[in-house]
Amino acid sequence: MHPLALPVDARITFLTGAGISVASGLRPYRGPGGLWNEVDVAAWATAEALARDPIGCFRAHRHFAALAAAAQPNAAHHAIAAFARARPEGHVVVITQNVDGLHQRAGAPHVVEIHGSLFRLRCPEERCAARIPAPDPSARVDEPPPCPRCGAKLRHDIVLFDEYLDPADERAAKEALRACQLFVAAGTSGVVFPAAAYVREADYAGARTILVNLEPPSPPNPYFDDVVLGRAEDVLPALLGADPLTS
Ligand SMILES: [Zn+2]
Repeated sequence: MHPLALPVDARITFLTGAGISVASGLRPYRGPGGLWNEVDVAAWATAEALARDPIGCFRAHRHFAALAAAAQPNAAHHAIAAFARARPEGHVVVITQNVDGLHQRAGAPHVVEIHGSLFRLRCPEERCAARIPAPDPSARVDEPPPCPRCGAKLRHDIVLFDEYLDPADERAAKEALRACQLFVAAGTSGVVFPAAAYVREADYAGARTILVNLEPPSPPNPYFDDVVLGRAEDVLPALLGADPLTS
């Protein structure tokens, strides 16, 4: 690995996945095998589950929000936040697949949550689509509250399986990918959507691309210039702390 040696006006885009929150005690949220305190996350992460049992889904996501609120950002979240804060406003964008809010709590200034957030509710009525902060996870709220605008029962503002990404988030992600000179994907396999598509986009834009993950991409992904194997909480502080603007 060459040192990063980035000019002060460089634009850097991160993509982070579930692997970055494992050291905070949160298992991968989406995908098979995701268990948060023995609750099967995948069972509650589909549009079908929401349609079948909206109250059960609401309670499960309240439970996950409480676990996320109790978790603490780890060295990977802190390294990215410090790196971003040391660079000019808006030049570092964090695109995350995680819904746990840990990047923001570490102080990262510009986060695009492409899978939404456990800490927001939204109106399921397309014409309304109001969004409000979720009630505090420690508060006793067992049923979805009504939309303040139209009265429909609110749901958590997260992207379930079989749902589309929010177009505004997708646009923000695309802009950050097209503008960046360095793209770092961390805690994600690098071979499935969105990482596979996003690295290609950054590569087309001429960015240097780095994957930080426990395992190499399989099959190999030719769009990554460098693959650094290891835990995000070990690799990112070493990689980003070497930035002349943060050391
Ligand atoms: Zn509404």
